Parts: sequence; structure tokens; C-alpha cells
Amino acid sequence: MGFDVEYASSNLSDTQIIGKCKADNLFLLTRDKELHSRYKRSLYITSQDHREQIRQFLSTFTVDKNLVFTRCTECNHQLEKIDTAGLKGKIPEGVLERFSTVLYCSKCGKYYWEGDHFIKIVEFLRELGIEI
Ligand SMILES: [Zn+2]
Repeated sequence: MGFDVEYASSNLSDTQIIGKCKADNLFLLTRDKELHSRYKRSLYITSQDHREQIRQFLSTFTVDKNLVFTRCTECNHQLEKIDTAGLKGKIPEGVLERFSTVLYCSKCGKYYWEGDHFIKIVEFLRELGIEI
């Protein structure tokens, strides 16, 4: 959805996580009620269901439609649109035939295109009331 995010390493203590949030001016999403109570700029995620978690997140944050599909889901780096010409062997043949451009992450090397997974994400966002 275009949000700039990072995961807290599992080997960080709660105090270290809060310290990083303060130092980098980050908002914290957590399922840890005690951690949430120690840091004001946080949202306590109550559900274990990922769809419900996203709904709860969206009750606090607004999606900028211009930023949807602009970040890599693997590493959070900003994606760039590139021509598929020259990508033979790097992406499936069917993608080369169907698309003249794809999105590319120059940090981790992952490619994204508007395939079945993309369509399911768009449908899910529409279920949440987000038209892109
Ligand atoms: Zn990446």
C-alpha cells in the first residue's frame, strides 16, 4: 500500500525497539500489549487474522492511492517501472509477451507485474474500500 515500513528484528529487546522508534521517528505496530503501553506512537493490533489486522491498521492510517504498489514487498525499497525489453530469461516468457513494462526493485532484484496475485491484491483493497 506504499507505506514505508520495516520489521523489528526478533533479537531486539522491547527497550531497543522503542529506542529505534524514537530515534527514527517511527510509528510502531505491535501485537504486544505491554510494548504498546510503553510507546505512545503505537497501534496495538488485536486480531490474529491478517485481513482483520489490515482493517484495523486502515482505521488509523490513510492510504495514498498514488503510492500503492510503489514499494517492494520483500525489502521495502522503492520500485521503478522498467521496459521488459532486455529482460528475456529474467522474467517468465508469458510476462514478456503480455507486458511492455514491469516494476523492478533495484535493491533485491525482484520483478512485479499485474498478474493473478496483483489482481487479488486489488480486489482485496477494493473490499476494504480502497479504489486504485
Ligand atoms: Zn526489494
